This record gives sequence, C-alpha cells and structure tokens, in this order.
Amino acid sequence: MFNLPSFRLGRLFGIPLEVNPTWVIIFVLVATTLSFTYFPSEFPGRSPWVNTLSGIITAVLFFASIIAHELSHSLVARTGGIKVEKVTLFMFGGVAQMEEEPAGPGREFFMAIAGPLASLVLAALFFITYVGLSAAGVTDVVWAPFQYLAFINFWVALFNMLPGFPLDGGRVLRAALWALGGDQLKATLWASRAGQFIGYAMVALAVLGVLQGSLDFIWFGLIGWFIAMLAEASYRQQLLKATLEGVRVSSIMSPDPVVAPGSITLDQLVEEYFIGGRHSRYPVESAGSIIGLISLSDVKRIPRDEWATTYVAEGADRDLARLLVDAEEAADSVLPRLSPTGPGALLVVGDGRLVGVLTRADVVSRVRRASL
Ligand SMILES: [Zn+2]
Repeated sequence: MFNLPSFRLGRLFGIPLEVNPTWVIIFVLVATTLSFTYFPSEFPGRSPWVNTLSGIITAVLFFASIIAHELSHSLVARTGGIKVEKVTLFMFGGVAQMEEEPAGPGREFFMAIAGPLASLVLAALFFITYVGLSAAGVTDVVWAPFQYLAFINFWVALFNMLPGFPLDGGRVLRAALWALGGDQLKATLWASRAGQFIGYAMVALAVLGVLQGSLDFIWFGLIGWFIAMLAEASYRQQLLKATLEGVRVSSIMSPDPVVAPGSITLDQLVEEYFIGGRHSRYPVESAGSIIGLISLSDVKRIPRDEWATTYVAEGADRDLARLLVDAEEAADSVLPRLSPTGPGALLVVGDGRLVGVLTRADVVSRVRRASL
C-alpha cells in the first residue's frame, strides 16, 4: 500500500514536498476525531458546524507542523552536504528521504534532534498564542485549536524521542553508541533492536487497550507494528551489509555445480535431474560452454505434452548478461541481482569457466552462520 505513487505539492526551501494517497486516511481520522470527539467534549454546547470547521483547520495546521518537523531534519542534513530527495506525508506521519547516511555520529545527532526540537518550538509558539488569546478574552473558538496544537506538538516531540530506530530518539541513540564504540554497524544493530522492542511493546499495549474496550488504541498499535517492521528491516539490512563486507562471491557460492546438458529433452531433465535431485535449477551446457540456466518453473511454463520434444537448450533462460557473475566480485554488490524478481540463481564464472552457483539461500546461510 506504500507503493502507491505520491503527488507532488510543490517545493519548500527547494525540497520537493509530496503527499501519498494513504495520508488521506490519517487526515480524515485526525479531523473527525477533533470535530466529533475532542472539541464537543472539551467545549460543550458549540454548534457542530463550528466544531467541524475547527477540526479541519486544526488538522491542516497539525500536518503543517509535521512538515515543519521533517523540513528541520532535511535542512540540517542539507547543511551537512547530504542531498534530501523529498519530504512525504503518509499514513503514519511524515518522512524525509535522504540520499545517503550521515558521515559521522555528530552529524547524525544534529540531524536527528532537529525534528523534535522543531516540534518543541512549535509547541511553545502555539502555547504562547493560546495563552495570549485566552488572556485577552477572545472566544474559545479562536484559541482552542492553538491549545490543541501546543499539546499535540509536544507529544510529537516526546514520542519521536523514544530511543528506538527508526524514531528520531533511536537515531540519537545510534549516534551516541557510534560515538562511544566507533562502530556504525554495531550501533545501528543495537538501535534497531531497541526500535523492535518499542514497536512490539506498543502493539502489546494496544492489544491490552482494545481488550479493555478502547478502540482508540488500534491506531497506536498500527504505528507500533510499523515501527517494529522498519526496525527489523534496517536490522536485517545492516546485518547483511556487515556480514558481506569484504566477502567475495567465490567464498559464499555453492561450488562445483551439477550441469545439465542442453541436448537432452525436458522429459529426461525432469526424470534425471529434478526428481530425486538436490536442486531446483541447473546450469545448462552446450558444446562445452555454459549457455544458460533452467529451473523447474521454466519447465512448467512449457506445456506438458511438449516436454518429450523440447530440448533443455530451448527451454533454458539464456540471458547470460543477467545470469553471469564474476567469482571475484564483492558479494554485497551482486545482492540486488538476487532479488525475487531476478533469475533466482547466478552463474559464477572464474578463469573463463563455471565454478559455482550463487542463490539467495547461499547468502542467507552465510548470514546465519555469521550471526550465530
Ligand atoms: Zn523526526
């Protein structure tokens, strides 16, 4: 659902501002909660129209505050020479997308703290406005939105400072661990572990809340789940990066692969190689050289009654530009080629001949061994 294309609203300080369609959900949720629950209970006796209008205006100002929070991250990042791709509003708030990671813990710290600081400053400004207006005797219809915005921005700052990656507090924690231990990867691993813990703790709290009949907790639980997922993904990515750093393809591939001749039929291939065989795909050889790769799903794409007359060479995936990889290449650089949309295995070539096969399973088992 996060793959939905976002709409470009324009630029602020040269940074593109986008809105994802999923943002509509949270906007409607915030606006309706304000209009039909918060304002009616805090200020009884008002007309529903006044509450609805107040709700919408307050929701707009709330998301403007979120944009200010994300812009602060972005502007500090840009001062440090990091290119900011865009700021996007979506279902769970806002996100500033950077093209690279900060170069050092100091830079990371200032980038991370900038957002919550902006929210705190906004909270203070809204609070002063609210107090000023109410002291001047202006009607609550005018000052109530500012009172709420002061309160909510304060909570945004506080919540984001929870010390778990990918929250801002988690980035501060990572910067601190990084500065103390000098190891960015280890710091990221610990900060994302903390993020997973916080995310799942929020989910657990939400479940308790819902069991007690308070449905408001559903959203809180969803955010917790989202945080846990992001933390887990960044943990896995860092682990992969750490494990594969400096490792060559040749040291994690499966060596000496069984090769299928291109001159046998698919029937023969299924009988002699796939049934009872150990692999679900085989490199294909013809006239002494490797011509491609054939998998069980390649075979299944061909109608069953043609298996007896079709040769392996014809059924194989022969896109060698996509399939071949050099044994000396760095393992982390070939990872994208093992994505689920890729060929499923890469043919590893060394000294001009086939020396092995590399699958996602090879990478996973290497990571597993390293993390034991
Ligand atoms: Zn932030």
